[in-house]
Amino acid sequence: MRIMRGRFAPSPTGDIHLGNIWTALLAWLQVRSAGGVMVLRMEDLDPGRSRPLYADRLMADMKWLGLDWDEGPDVGGPYAPYSQHERRDLYQAALEQLAADGIVYPCYCTRAELAASAPHSGDTERIYSGTCRRREVAEACKGARQPSLRLVVPPGITSFTDLQAGDVSQDISQEVGDFVVRRSDGVHAYQLAVVVDDAAMEITHVLRGYDLLSSTPRQLLLYRLLGQPAPVFTHVPLLIAPDGHRLSKRQQDLSIACLRAQGVKAEAIIGYLAYKANLIDARQPVKAAELIASFDVSKLQSDPVIVDSHDL
Ligand code: GLU
Repeated sequence: MRIMRGRFAPSPTGDIHLGNIWTALLAWLQVRSAGGVMVLRMEDLDPGRSRPLYADRLMADMKWLGLDWDEGPDVGGPYAPYSQHERRDLYQAALEQLAADGIVYPCYCTRAELAASAPHSGDTERIYSGTCRRREVAEACKGARQPSLRLVVPPGITSFTDLQAGDVSQDISQEVGDFVVRRSDGVHAYQLAVVVDDAAMEITHVLRGYDLLSSTPRQLLLYRLLGQPAPVFTHVPLLIAPDGHRLSKRQQDLSIACLRAQGVKAEAIIGYLAYKANLIDARQPVKAAELIASFDVSKLQSDPVIVDSHDL
């Protein structure tokens, strides 16, 4: 049997918080309980938002929490480099492969035009009506501005079985439309980069937050078009604050740096998350490594998990 290869792929755009560590811990436990290889990949593709400082702090926070990795930006490994900003040639090569198949086209639509043509309000970023797929439109816009590049999405259902969310199906052409694979500023899209990287790094298992479940059909389409095998997916519930909002990097009180500065111990944070994941019966300090033997992803609840900074 192939050895399991899993990864944690954070974007270093701020100090990591409890929600990031929740995902990191569960991905780490999935790999460690299977005796697999853990990869840390820095998703610092967006030069406007990523900072090397945050990547350094993230690695320090993870180590402090007892979460290690076998391959990563600091330790290297057979699939180096492990930071996306150093892997742009690979994304470009994949894009050229898709373009050679005639399934990529330039899109000159502005944000305002996208908003005006979206069938439902709130869907502005989601469903693309295909304006620039009609070549005359794109020709007429040529030179007006830098285009983004979109993928021609074929009609049809994409299905997969998620280890946590169960059976998932989506007709991407209806629910998303032709999606962006390279932004107008030249930055390759997350959807493309994540597929290129997980394929190149031979990742067999992806465990990540539920918010990315809806991206997975697009990624499966890209695996198919690029002729690559897809990993097994597990999308775990998100952590939310008592007011129902998703934890974000703006909520400083739940950043690991802040908790640590207040004297909260690493074992207390891991114990709190393990309790919320139903991995231990009572809330108590625990080391991440102590959870490996009894890890079982099916113990997770399927609804979002409420956490409160006062608990810590
Ligand atoms: N970089 C993404 C994030 O931090 C995660 C990507 C993934 O796990 O596929 O949200």
